[in-house]
Amino acid sequence: MNKLAINGGRKLRAEPFPAYNTIGKEEEEAALRVLRSGKLSTYLGAWHADFHGGNEVQSLEKEWAEYFNVKHAISVNSATSGLYAAVGAIGLNPGDEVIVSAYTMSASATAILVYGGIPVFADIEEDYYCLDVNSIREKITAKTKAIMVVDIFGQPYDADAINALAEEYGLKVIEDTAQAPNAKYGERYAGTLGDIGVFSLNYHKHIHCGEGGIIVTNDDELAFKLKLIRNHAEAVLGGKGYNHKDELINMIGFNYRMNEIEASIAREQLKKLPMLFEERSRNVQYLDEKLSQLPAINGNRIRKNTTHAFYTHTLTFDSKLADGIHRDKFIKAVSAELPQTILRDDSPVLMGCGYVKPLYLLPLYQERIAFGKDGYPFNLSTNINYGKGLCPVTEDMHYNKLFAHEFMRPGMKKKDMDDVVNAFEKVWTHRHEIC
Ligand SMILES: *Cc1c(COP(=O)(O)O)cnc(C)c1O
Repeated sequence: MNKLAINGGRKLRAEPFPAYNTIGKEEEEAALRVLRSGKLSTYLGAWHADFHGGNEVQSLEKEWAEYFNVKHAISVNSATSGLYAAVGAIGLNPGDEVIVSAYTMSASATAILVYGGIPVFADIEEDYYCLDVNSIREKITAKTKAIMVVDIFGQPYDADAINALAEEYGLKVIEDTAQAPNAKYGERYAGTLGDIGVFSLNYHKHIHCGEGGIIVTNDDELAFKLKLIRNHAEAVLGGKGYNHKDELINMIGFNYRMNEIEASIAREQLKKLPMLFEERSRNVQYLDEKLSQLPAINGNRIRKNTTHAFYTHTLTFDSKLADGIHRDKFIKAVSAELPQTILRDDSPVLMGCGYVKPLYLLPLYQERIAFGKDGYPFNLSTNINYGKGLCPVTEDMHYNKLFAHEFMRPGMKKKDMDDVVNAFEKVWTHRHEIC
């Protein structure tokens, strides 16, 4: 009866967990409204009223800026596009260095490469997993131009310390806040803490419209450049009489435009954000308290004076306190106790060990092959280190300690979460049977 599922015993729970879906009638009606209008996008890549997009796009931007209390919100077709545009807008030169977290989604760093910049990876904090200000300081050189901070897992970065460091060295701060919508640092929203912030509206994020992103900034000039990059800058600038050299830097424009259907859905999703955020927080609180009671498990830590958005609920496992059982074996045994079914029918990960591989260990960085056959832009620098061991805290978290799950998604009931807790407790009790 109590045999571990991983050893052929019965699962603690076989019944699927509730489905997770935040798209309802409101989004359906919004999308229909756009479809019926026939105007699925009215963008035009020329100086014209339509240069800034259609009614839904502009309404979304206005509502987003109001909600997050920021001067400019600029919609794009993904957060990846938003990060690319952000790096372009700050005027990066090929060969410039940008310090970025080693523990983040790949696009935080590729955004730097796209403009010929050199990603310089810094280590994370033991407690909060965001960029560590001391590690950043060690990596600053005369070539450093910016810091790409990431509000990883929903935790706002160490804004006071890192912004002060950036100011000391005249660096721009780009905040990748794809995972932290609605999180707060003091009174300010994550995303608005640096010079430019980038939100994601992809399917896996708190709120979504399929694919999408929003860039925010309080800086008028950056906002202007971001809008240009979004919509064919080079074809547009001549018409406006821009010829000055500085104004033309990185003004190779893209098509990063969001369409009207996506914008209409995102507007409805934004209204649901506070409710979804609250439910996530409550669920995490419940799970965190119970799971932390197991001796080898340390609960999620939240930075002082911040709220956490809990893109995932992160905990750590100390194998020394579990008679040497490695995290991977323990988590695998817990997963085996729970239903195969997944909160979203096509996403395989409900609980996993670590997050993504430390970025510098990806083949792109190990082989230093990005553009062409000569190793551009890595060949612009003589001072690159992407060796194993570069960021010891990141590597230890990834390979030994950190695990994350999504059993706190809205829709999970107390009974569902109790089953999760019971699965952990069962495996803990029977941990000596794990082989
Ligand atoms: C999801 C994510 C992105 C990219 O978002 P897209 O909208 O899919 O391009 C970037 N950074 C982080 C930290 C993310 O989690």
